[in-house]
Amino acid sequence: MIDPFGRTVSYLRVSVTDRCDFRCVYCMAEDMTFLPKADVLSLEELDRLCSAFIRKGVRKLRLTGGEPLVRRNVMQLIRSLGRHLDSGALDELTLTTNGSQLHRFADDLAAAGVRRINVSVDTLDPDRFRRLTRWGDLEQVLTGLQAAKKAGLAVKINAVALKRENEGEIDDLVRWCGEEGFDLCLIETMPLGEIDADRTDQYLPLSLVRARLAHRWTLQESDYRTGGPARYVSVAETGRRIGFITPMTHNFCESCNRVRVTCTGTLYMCLGQEDAADLRGPLRAGDDDSLLDAAIEEAIARKPKGHDFVIDRRRTQPAVRRHMSTTGG
Ligand code: SAM
Repeated sequence: MIDPFGRTVSYLRVSVTDRCDFRCVYCMAEDMTFLPKADVLSLEELDRLCSAFIRKGVRKLRLTGGEPLVRRNVMQLIRSLGRHLDSGALDELTLTTNGSQLHRFADDLAAAGVRRINVSVDTLDPDRFRRLTRWGDLEQVLTGLQAAKKAGLAVKINAVALKRENEGEIDDLVRWCGEEGFDLCLIETMPLGEIDADRTDQYLPLSLVRARLAHRWTLQESDYRTGGPARYVSVAETGRRIGFITPMTHNFCESCNRVRVTCTGTLYMCLGQEDAADLRGPLRAGDDDSLLDAAIEEAIARKPKGHDFVIDRRRTQPAVRRHMSTTGG
């Protein structure tokens, strides 16, 4: 699949549920209304959809959410998708998780062919963790991370940089990741969906974080790329990498290789734009995949050049109305 700007689309991110057992303050409002079950794709439909994209050239598949591991019987889907790894059609099957259920699933994930996972941990302070996630328990996540390590899964920690919250703790995250053998990816808050807080109060530019880290650590430029938006440095003292995802301070769209599907089968060709294509209709129209294939092709031909996020006090609306948990982070 090649888009109008010559970019090959080889990476699909699929949100398997909009539900989550956390309510991170920058991601969701506390009283979220979730989708009715009938709107959400079944596990079989998700499998069919992912398989269609793989047939069309997707080599990397990431399951996300909401929280992917709270979807009932999600392991059934993951095991089934593992067949594409066995056949060689897929290079990587991975997921982004908050880690709350990893203690239950780490071994099963490894057995299904998952090799790396991203786990979101914004802070190592239990009280702050509870405040930021509203409902999360840090201890449970740390137990899950040990289970992941034991199962042989490579872990990348995702942390959203938040002014006055984990701002003073980024150093500790770097040290901890070094000790645990995890890579770290720092993310700027993006203006996605209505939340209860003011995003201008949360936004912390990573250019500043990086400059501060450079006082304490030897950051070596790295040309390591995962095909994603992160720019990496190596930390000489720990031997681990730090990625910086800077949608607000750096436009990373020129090498975009990805599209996203929500749990209702809506295909978003860009995280930061509203244009979308419905794939649930074509999926549910029958067992034949020709309508689905045509809808995917038609949508890829409309993939936009990029997003234009702005966090600005004069702007009271988020840049994009849907939450990250809808499109999948
Ligand atoms: N529940 C899983 C998790 O916690 O990783 C997967 C879904 S979550 C929406 C994926 C990632 O998006 C998390 O790392 C989260 O911190 C990040 N995220 C959510 N809302 C965001 C926002 N407004 N700006 C930047 N990152 C955000």
